[in-house]
Amino acid sequence: MVRKVLLAEPRGFCAGVEMAIKALAWMVRIFPPPVYCYHEIVHNRLVVERFREFGVIFVDDVSEVPERAPLMLSAHGSTPEVVISAREQNRFVVNAVCPLVTKVHHEAKVRAKKGYTILYVGHAGHDEAVGTLAVAPDSIRLVERAADLSEALASIDDPNKVALLAQTTLALHDWEGIRDDARGQFPSLWTASRNDLCFATTNRQAALSRIATQADAVVVIGSANSSNTVALAKVAEAAGCPIVLRIDGPDELNVQAVGEDAVVGVTAGASAPEDLVQAVIARLAPTEGVEHVHVTDEDEYFPPPRELRDLIPDNDDRSVTASQVLEELTRR
Ligand code: SF4
Repeated sequence: MVRKVLLAEPRGFCAGVEMAIKALAWMVRIFPPPVYCYHEIVHNRLVVERFREFGVIFVDDVSEVPERAPLMLSAHGSTPEVVISAREQNRFVVNAVCPLVTKVHHEAKVRAKKGYTILYVGHAGHDEAVGTLAVAPDSIRLVERAADLSEALASIDDPNKVALLAQTTLALHDWEGIRDDARGQFPSLWTASRNDLCFATTNRQAALSRIATQADAVVVIGSANSSNTVALAKVAEAAGCPIVLRIDGPDELNVQAVGEDAVVGVTAGASAPEDLVQAVIARLAPTEGVEHVHVTDEDEYFPPPRELRDLIPDNDDRSVTASQVLEELTRR
């Protein structure tokens, strides 16, 4: 038992994840099984397991998907080669890439066309980074940390044509450090007018920053391969919180590690379902209850991918949440 939970708002599912989960759920309901999904629909182990139970087959290579089969491409964005080969063999392809990832792809294409060298701050091997790097492979260099910057800078021909882009889910502090270093080297550095970190990433980090300084421990709910979840853990550590636990769900929570009588901050990455948050709070069993720490409202809504729009009854998508859709599928 802990003393109190400080619950971050906003937390959990973002508009892009809501869109992708609901789109895959529509596919499960519309098409006879199996429905295929290229890569994890979102980086959350429990969401992926739930869709497996609904008969979705996840593949890492689109050549494994049979002719004419329904196939979804994940929210993180896919390389142009994957999108092209997915559409071969008369497959019904739904591209659930988040519009905010598409925006970064667009920036990369435009800057590359204008002759810029693009420094892309992201995580090697992460689906989103792999997809973005492939949009303009001859013009982009990956920068993972500030120490990589000098190596990337050494390969730049025209210092007046350097752009800095970012994975949408970075820790704000990490991004700002690299951006400031790069600006120091290249005063005419181009960056997007609002940085590439998405609203969901920055809102969740802002809410957590507010509580991390008051908490004895912070619990971040989300999977280890979820970039924005890992970024949340970094935010709590950077705020000086002495205990930061990243867990997939309540089963992984060691309440003793949090400490009896502790004030515990709780948040969830953008792909972690709310039912896990509530189950974690139930395990923490705070004697003084839950205090909601609200930083901002999020009312963004992303409509279903265009390939699905004609197949979905009007307004049926907007009126439900991804959590409700997952629950309804579970009951079938
Ligand atoms: S975290 Fe941001 S970029 Fe990623 S799916 Fe959510 S809204 Fe889109």
